[in-house]
Amino acid sequence: MIRRLINKVLGKKAPAGPRILPLDKHGIRREQIHGCALKVTDTLAHEGFAAFVVGGAVRDLLLGRTPKDFDVATNATPDDIRHLFRRSRIIGRRFQIVHVYCGADLIEVTTFRAAAPPADDEEEDGRVTAADGMLLRDNVFGSQEEDAARRDFTVNALYYDPQKQEIWDWHGGVADAQKKVLRMIGDPAQRFREDPVRMLRAARFAAKLEFHIDPATRAPIASLANMLARIPPSRLFDEMMKLLLSGHAERGVKQLRAEGLHHGVLPMLDAILDDPARQKFLHFALHDTDSRIREGHSASPAFMLACLLWFDMQKELKHNRGRGDHEQAALFEAMDTALERQRRALAFPRRFDGTIKEIWSLQGRFEQRSGARPYRLLSHPRLSAAFDFLVIRAESGDADPELADWWDRFQDAGEAERAEMLLPAQGGDAKRKRRKRRKPADGASAAPAEND
Ligand code: ATP
Ligand code: MG
Repeated sequence: MIRRLINKVLGKKAPAGPRILPLDKHGIRREQIHGCALKVTDTLAHEGFAAFVVGGAVRDLLLGRTPKDFDVATNATPDDIRHLFRRSRIIGRRFQIVHVYCGADLIEVTTFRAAAPPADDEEEDGRVTAADGMLLRDNVFGSQEEDAARRDFTVNALYYDPQKQEIWDWHGGVADAQKKVLRMIGDPAQRFREDPVRMLRAARFAAKLEFHIDPATRAPIASLANMLARIPPSRLFDEMMKLLLSGHAERGVKQLRAEGLHHGVLPMLDAILDDPARQKFLHFALHDTDSRIREGHSASPAFMLACLLWFDMQKELKHNRGRGDHEQAALFEAMDTALERQRRALAFPRRFDGTIKEIWSLQGRFEQRSGARPYRLLSHPRLSAAFDFLVIRAESGDADPELADWWDRFQDAGEAERAEMLLPAQGGDAKRKRRKRRKPADGASAAPAEND
């Protein structure tokens, strides 16, 4: 009471203290925690440190969902943690965290961090926040209370103690989870200014959790959306890929639009959302990818990029064909041009290029359904992704549905049925063969994978 009064006089927000919920109030049992996270929290607790499972895992368990990963927060320092676990290393990205390994599993362990300093706080080594309130540095150790205050949404600031099977709820996250409300901790506008990526996170979590964004949290987003331009492109790319590969991308992109966040986030998304034909393709791409992910299949950033950039590549290809280029040369150049042009707008990693090009170039090879060629495709390592891509094209009117259906059956068919399915060799094939003898340049088909 007195502390609250003093804080009030000093203009500080009253620290309410956590609400501590026992097992029968939340139902999360120790056995539901990943073994590696238990090993980490048990070891830390045994050494006398506070150790909690925190963030998305507690939120998802509370909502009856399967957590993606288990993060641990503790008052032990990175060095303490490093010394307690043989298979661990300190990662110095934006914040210092420790990766602890158990077999192939990995747990991220973070030391409680201090709350963000006020916007006008100056330090010897320069400002910790920029004039517009964006956080420049944020890696000072703090109390659990401070750690909770610097998290983004109330449902993301829940701490689970596996020793006592208690949830420590600092900001009413349990009640918000029950009400399905996504609520920013603290002053929403200030928190979005500190880190504009939180606006994208709001859209992502609202879509994933099927929550609605609390009106006060939502209100400042539209007017702050342009602050996303200040975020390093690589971080924007990562965050957008999280959204697009979350299994809830369709709703996520809708949510982005609803919040006025869809422009200027991903240049390739911008182009798509302004063109009805591309929108239709994107709709099926997101819908199919969401279903696959939710069924436990994988989807990669490369697949998503292949979808997002398909029309750009097609445009280049048409242009090159119009110039009279050989089909293969036209295709290779179109793929390179489409990727390089996008890369000038957004420097996405080059490691995806090979897969993107394979998915694209296999599209032409699906057209060839006579002779030995379809059989060669069957063992192609990228067949499955390229076929998924073909299905999306067929659904959205960009490819003949009969072709997708044929490949669907051909992949599952037995030997005899396959032989029956083959189409008769066509003039085009003969012509291609003749050309092939002269020069390797070949039909739409003759993609690089032909040499595999
Ligand atoms: P997901 O299931 O998508 O991984 P998550 O809640 O675990 O969801 P992460 O991005 O893995 O999300 O972050 C882990 C936790 O770190 C969050 O729950 C949140 O408490 C905190 N956090 C992450 N990013 C931010 C941010 N930009 N601002 C404030 N807190 C953040
Ligand atoms: Mg997480």
